[in-house]
Amino acid sequence: MYDAIIIGAGVAGLAAGQRLRASGRPAIILEARDRIGGRIETDRTHGPVELGAEFIHGARIATWEYARAAGLTTTGWTPEARRFARGGAILSANDPLVKRIQALFDAATSYDGPDISVAALIEGMAAPDDPARDYALRWLANVESADTAPERPRPHPRAPGCDQ
Ligand SMILES: Cc1cc2nc3c(=O)[nH]c(=O)nc-3n(C[C@H](O)[C@H](O)[C@H](O)COP(=O)(O)OP(=O)(O)OC[C@H]3O[C@@H](n4cnc5c(N)ncnc54)[C@H](O)[C@@H]3O)c2cc1C
Repeated sequence: MYDAIIIGAGVAGLAAGQRLRASGRPAIILEARDRIGGRIETDRTHGPVELGAEFIHGARIATWEYARAAGLTTTGWTPEARRFARGGAILSANDPLVKRIQALFDAATSYDGPDISVAALIEGMAAPDDPARDYALRWLANVESADTAPERPRPHPRAPGCDQ
């Protein structure tokens, strides 16, 4: 007999299950998939690649409690820690393609000119056949949550204490 049935073994369901267990209330977690984690998933086929969540945003969020309690190691995120892959290989930080991607990213995130889309800015800076263009657009869309078509070429404001 359970006091609670939790639907989904994502981080919310797992945290709820842990709290219930700690308070002595039996609970069961039902998960539809064949793995736990939900939108947190690490692909280790070629080394760890995060397919979902990867950043702990800011100093005050509860994720730290769980990371520390589990004895997990975390790594600070710096511009130097960015990695790009091409043709199945990780590019070195000195690769000319990486330098061009970085330059496009820096231009978009420091832009302070007339109101244009991120895509227009990037496309104006890189030749159509330059792969750096596509990398920069995808990177901006993913990491900075920029909708590259209609948005201004500026990342969304960051929360105080957010180290991303
Ligand atoms: C690409 C990506 C990047 C992200 N990056 C970050 C990040 O860097 N930092 C950050 O803080 N957050 C990030 N997030 C958000 C973060 O992953 C989510 O907020 C968090 O994982 C949500 O957890 P959850 O338990 O609420 O839901 P989910 O992780 O979605 O878990 C829900 C679970 O419920 C299961 N389920 C659903 N319906 C049923 C059902 N009827 N029966 C049984 N099981 C069911 C699902 O299979 C799933 O396992 C990212 C998300 C994505 C997709």
